[in-house]
Amino acid sequence: MSRYSAWSVFKNGLTGQKGWERAWRDPEPKSEYDIVIVGAGLHGLATAYYLSKNHGLKNIAVVEKGWLGGGNGGRNTTIVRSNYMMPGNREFYEHSLTLWEELSHELNYNVMFSQRSHVSLLHSPAARDATARRYNTMRLTGSDGELWSLEKLKNTIPHLNYDNARFPIIGAAVQPRAGTARHDAVAWGYARAADSHGVDILQNCEVTGVTRQGSQVSAIETSRGTIKAKKIGFAVAGNTSRLWSMADLGHLPIESHKLQAFVSEPLKPLLDHVVVFGVGGAHFYISQSDKGGMVFGGDLDWYKSYAQRGNLPIVQDVAECATSIMPCLGRVRMLRHWSGVMDMSMDGSPFICKTPIDNLYLNAGWNYGGFKASPASGWYFADLIANDRPDPVIENMHLQRFEQGIIIDERGAGPDPKLHG
Ligand SMILES: Cc1cc2nc3c(=O)[nH]c(=O)nc-3n(C[C@H](O)[C@H](O)[C@H](O)COP(=O)(O)OP(=O)(O)OC[C@H]3O[C@@H](n4cnc5c(N)ncnc54)[C@H](O)[C@@H]3O)c2cc1C
Repeated sequence: MSRYSAWSVFKNGLTGQKGWERAWRDPEPKSEYDIVIVGAGLHGLATAYYLSKNHGLKNIAVVEKGWLGGGNGGRNTTIVRSNYMMPGNREFYEHSLTLWEELSHELNYNVMFSQRSHVSLLHSPAARDATARRYNTMRLTGSDGELWSLEKLKNTIPHLNYDNARFPIIGAAVQPRAGTARHDAVAWGYARAADSHGVDILQNCEVTGVTRQGSQVSAIETSRGTIKAKKIGFAVAGNTSRLWSMADLGHLPIESHKLQAFVSEPLKPLLDHVVVFGVGGAHFYISQSDKGGMVFGGDLDWYKSYAQRGNLPIVQDVAECATSIMPCLGRVRMLRHWSGVMDMSMDGSPFICKTPIDNLYLNAGWNYGGFKASPASGWYFADLIANDRPDPVIENMHLQRFEQGIIIDERGAGPDPKLHG
């Protein structure tokens, strides 16, 4: 596969854009692979890429029921950050952010990663104290984080409601290296890079059954025929419990909930940061896309479903948050809204682990936060599958943590998916 470069853009510009190759192949499924990853979202594609790139493995397929990136990977609000505190999560998300910083070069594909800062608004001295602890921990463990005074915040982001907000703003916690990326480009970049290493990406290929032989999985049944595999990894986000029950494995500590996102008509440059507002039941985050649309989201829809569409009460809720924190948005027209199916784990932290079946591996439980995690998730999941043991960074991201009472409770909110993001 030829590399993208300024020269190739220039040359194709002069020759009618006729010289571009397909970004990835559209192969027929083989009857057998060494490794099959189910789900061509960001996590599945990144896993396949790192399996081939980092571990030199060949004969890999990624199996996708729809089109690649058509799930949560292409539906999120694209926020990338690593402001985590708990051991395990901290190292994991910081590694992810470090991978993001080089991802466009790594994949030879512009993922439009924009380190525009992630600004969490603070509304009480207690919140400021708790956040100072988190951000100091981040700094002590090699990440970046700052506390902004109200004055600095006003100077930097003047359009917020500083005058008559129900919850007055007193400052902000900021991660300057955080930001946004273009989610489709990440999916396409990983797909193209994985394909260039020989990975077969099989779209329109739904897994409908999992064949077990004793303590092993021997094959998957798909809408394009039976595919045998020596190792299988599930990376199907909100559909994890469906695949889990196909493998006859009982219940998972995961619930599938819907989360909506919204984009407005394009505006002139208004907001140069990611702003997060969360207090007193409100939950709202907003940034401006490169095309000018205000991209924002809020809370879950609060009922379980596998449908990729949301409901109106949350539209009202998010609109209330938007206008209360940025009143200047009051007359902005909404262009589109949509939803994805979130794999909410009970402690808000993910699973990258082995399963009760020897050659079946699980990647799930990403809650609201799997976009930023995708590079590290693929990195560590590939390592787990290749070496059959977890790296120390992910050693607590397993299913038994609930039985063993060692949950990774990042928000200190307890075992309830409604309280985690
Ligand atoms: C509205 C919204 C906003 C979000 N905002 C953010 C954010 O700002 N920052 C952040 O970090 N995270 C965010 N997230 C979360 C993030 O998008 C997800 O955690 C992450 O994308 C999940 O991983 P994935 O990309 O691999 O999932 P997906 O893209 O959902 O991939 C799973 C794939 O598995 C496929 N699949 C399912 N069942 C089968 C089957 N039987 N056979 C074959 N294939 C199957 C699906 O079609 C899908 O393509 C948001 C999510 C949503 C919905």
